[in-house]
Amino acid sequence: MKYYDQHLHTYLSFDSTETFENYLDKGVEIFVSTDHFDLKNPYTDFNDDVPDYDIYCEKLAELESKYKTRLLKGIEIGVVPGQEETIIDFLSQRTYDVKILSIHQNGKIDFMDPIVKTKLKLDVATEYFQQMDRVLESFPEGNILAHFEYGLRQLELSAKELEENFEPLLIKIFKKAITREMGFELNAKSFVNYHNAELYRYAVPLYRSLGGKLFTLGSDAHVAQDYQLGFSEMTALLKENEVKQLVVFQGNERFMTDLPE
Ligand SMILES: [Zn+2]
Ligand SMILES: [Zn+2]
Repeated sequence: MKYYDQHLHTYLSFDSTETFENYLDKGVEIFVSTDHFDLKNPYTDFNDDVPDYDIYCEKLAELESKYKTRLLKGIEIGVVPGQEETIIDFLSQRTYDVKILSIHQNGKIDFMDPIVKTKLKLDVATEYFQQMDRVLESFPEGNILAHFEYGLRQLELSAKELEENFEPLLIKIFKKAITREMGFELNAKSFVNYHNAELYRYAVPLYRSLGGKLFTLGSDAHVAQDYQLGFSEMTALLKENEVKQLVVFQGNERFMTDLPE
């Protein structure tokens, strides 16, 4: 089995209009979309953004009759403390092959909101990582820890600043993810578009040094042309760190695949 993109969006996300067909026309062997689940989302005026499961299943059934691609089910779950029970209740009635865990917002603002730029960067980063640490304790779902540095995308925090100010907290977070056997995602939007490769260059060896063995690549594509974005650059970083395989999640199982070329 070849590795396939485990983080991408379609029109079932509030911030994408992309079709499944545009991805599938690339002739992929296995395909999984991970549309946004974010309750009381500041991005959309505190709307509950929930990908409709029935529409999702109907669409996949329709696509199955047209494409040879094996179609899996995924979701990207944004968690704010206090929402855990509602989200667990939602998930308990639906099955997904892969669940991505993300911290996007704190109940008031999304960490990508422009207002973040007017705040003290160490305060924002502290709040972001504390929320991540708390959610890893309070919310038991999730196979992949997505974009560990999402909350830093606007801050221009260097790897040195990250290390000097947050290493103990990061170690705490990473240990929790490792104990939970989560995949650590290298996120192409962060890596390429937001120029945070340096932060991954710091975080990947740290994750490894704590016993982390599971890694994933995610383009975080919102348009089909970004499918597998940044995979060669991110693969190169993993190779430098002697990571030889990636993890994929299917059903209640996980499999190891070779790194892409
Ligand atoms: Zn995300
Ligand atoms: Zn995403």
